[in-house]
Amino acid sequence: MDKNTPVIELKGVGEKTQTLLTKLNIKTVGDLLASWPRDYETYGEPVEIRCLVPGEICAVHAAVTGIPNEKRTGRLHILNMKAADETGELHLTFFNLPFLKKTLKRGGFYIFRGMVQSRGTEKIMEQPKIFSLEEYQKLTGRLIPRYSLTKGLTDHAMQKYMRQALSLCELGAEHFSGQVLQENGLITEREAVEKIHFPNDYGDLVKARRRLVFDEFFSFLFLMRKNKEAGERLENHYRLPETADTVRFLERLPFPLTGAQRKVWEEIRSDLGSPYCMNRLVQGDVGSGKTIVAVLALLMTAANGYQGALMAPTEVLAIQHYETIQEFVRKYGLIFRPVLLVGSMNAKEKKEAYGKIASGEVNLVIGTHALIQEKVQYRSLALVVTDEQHRFGVRQREHLAGKGEVPHILVMSATPIPRTLAIILYGDLHISVIDELPARRLPIKNCVVNTAWRPKAYKFIAGEVKKGRQVYVICPQVEGDPESEGGASLENVVDYTEKLRGALPPGVQVTCLHGRMRPADKKRIMEDFSAHAIDVLVSTTVVEVGINVPNATVMMVENAERFGLAQLHQLRGRVGRGEYQSYCIFVSGNEKEETMERLKILNSSNDGFHIASEDLKLRGPGDLFGIRQSGAFSFRMGDIYSDAPVLKLASDAVDRLLAGDPDLKKAENADLGRYLAEEARNSVDFRSI
Ligand code: ADP
Ligand code: MG
Repeated sequence: MDKNTPVIELKGVGEKTQTLLTKLNIKTVGDLLASWPRDYETYGEPVEIRCLVPGEICAVHAAVTGIPNEKRTGRLHILNMKAADETGELHLTFFNLPFLKKTLKRGGFYIFRGMVQSRGTEKIMEQPKIFSLEEYQKLTGRLIPRYSLTKGLTDHAMQKYMRQALSLCELGAEHFSGQVLQENGLITEREAVEKIHFPNDYGDLVKARRRLVFDEFFSFLFLMRKNKEAGERLENHYRLPETADTVRFLERLPFPLTGAQRKVWEEIRSDLGSPYCMNRLVQGDVGSGKTIVAVLALLMTAANGYQGALMAPTEVLAIQHYETIQEFVRKYGLIFRPVLLVGSMNAKEKKEAYGKIASGEVNLVIGTHALIQEKVQYRSLALVVTDEQHRFGVRQREHLAGKGEVPHILVMSATPIPRTLAIILYGDLHISVIDELPARRLPIKNCVVNTAWRPKAYKFIAGEVKKGRQVYVICPQVEGDPESEGGASLENVVDYTEKLRGALPPGVQVTCLHGRMRPADKKRIMEDFSAHAIDVLVSTTVVEVGINVPNATVMMVENAERFGLAQLHQLRGRVGRGEYQSYCIFVSGNEKEETMERLKILNSSNDGFHIASEDLKLRGPGDLFGIRQSGAFSFRMGDIYSDAPVLKLASDAVDRLLAGDPDLKKAENADLGRYLAEEARNSVDFRSI
């Protein structure tokens, strides 16, 4: 059995399971082994009841007391019981498990393990798992993998298939030499794959993760350096001299550019006129005004008779950019003839857009990555601007050019990255930094609170809505997921919207938005929010990047502890974009002191770089899997912040490899060469930034 063996050859996997696995994109044994756990369950030592912390999963060793109480509502059977130890009492609620009133003996001691909740001074567990002390002792200290599942699959089944695959599957040769492993303190790939699924202890997990992250960074950096070499010598076939259009636009803008915007615009102008093709990253914190700079470059392109493209990560954002551009055309008489191109357009609309692009009737194409797909033939594409999403490999640039010459590339990013990391991660791009926010902005007021503060928050929100302002509320989940233990306690967009409708005065328009909706619905909702037909938008982080509604003044984030601080900072950037005082309310779902401390960093700084690095200092290794700082880089496991040391090691290792054997011709690098070639094939479009 090797990595390419279909999963159906595993014992216990029939056609039905095969279909379920296919839903998770698992077709081969290799795919299965590459489906790493999403987290691990640990069975900690039982604690005393008085030490139970609401919001955490705990185990207690307690005796059943009192008389069980049964209720029935509709099809639901509810059983309430009590348990106690020397330090206090715990309320237990079970759903549809009526037999427990007999099996749990009064006075008997059991381990109850579940999410702790509180109601006033009472402590509650709903649907806890029940163990005997002996059973539980066997489990304590172990890490049990939990996978991303689909309905019909259980963790238990996945674990079984995984064990089988690990024992039967030939993984192939180790691609790194013994020397590389040693220099970087890495375990072998074989060991890493075994231990990521079944670590004996936490130390194992750290080692396994470190190896897998190293691989990820290594292949990314290798491919990027190769790309850089090829890209550096691209001749500039679109030398764009400045025209009166940009100057006139700047004169008509109601505000002057900030110093930083002017500096970056100068850098871009000089690139566009230079002997080499532009490949530049503009980095600037949220609200620093990157859009205007991009518009200037696109305007210069159009003024010289060429086409430009502006690509956004989501349809919602693409549409917003499209509307901004249309408004600029109306207000300032810009020469853009724009067209929108997004995946949700129907075949006829798309065809029409393709026609206009091919004929050159339009000089600006705005959309999602639909606009770089093969069907789109540009007449004269000279500039591609991407907002917070892609960088391009040389082959992709050539493809974009079609029969023409490769276009200039301008990448905009709000991901805060310290300089040293930026040089590693963006080594193939020239970097411009907008390190100044437009003046006359009122600083955003922040607070970090617990859930008890919600009534006050709702009152505050009602007040802002009454003043004519708008509000975002962010929840970590789309729908309630009672099957996952942690999931039940996380706020979700669907239920929260209902709750909020009840809590706010009638007449306040509350609507929800999330990634699972149909694109057309998302689009309509965002438009309605922009047009102020909606007062309060309850959403997942789909609004994280780039949405611009200057009338929105409140950003409330539920379960703020589940987000990385850099991400929360991005969310905060959605408000404070207009003339009004804006506010952020970060609601923590647990009251652990560390959590509150961490969130309070947001209070003390408005600087994304600073926030990301402070967050790193405070986070313990326990957060290895819990929090991702940034969704901006599409690494599967690696996190550019918390894995920065590994990133540096991988970068040095790539340097050494390229210095000694740039074309991987030496026999000792043959396996590595095959591995990297395979990785290159798999990176369909060059990594997202
Ligand atoms: P981001 O860098 O997050 O993409 P935007 O380009 O969306 O930021 O700009 C945020 C807001 O600031 C917009 O409403 C924009 O019109 C405004 N803005 C941009 N540059 C300036 C400036 N120099 N002075 C005042 N306001 C500006
Ligand atoms: Mg933006």
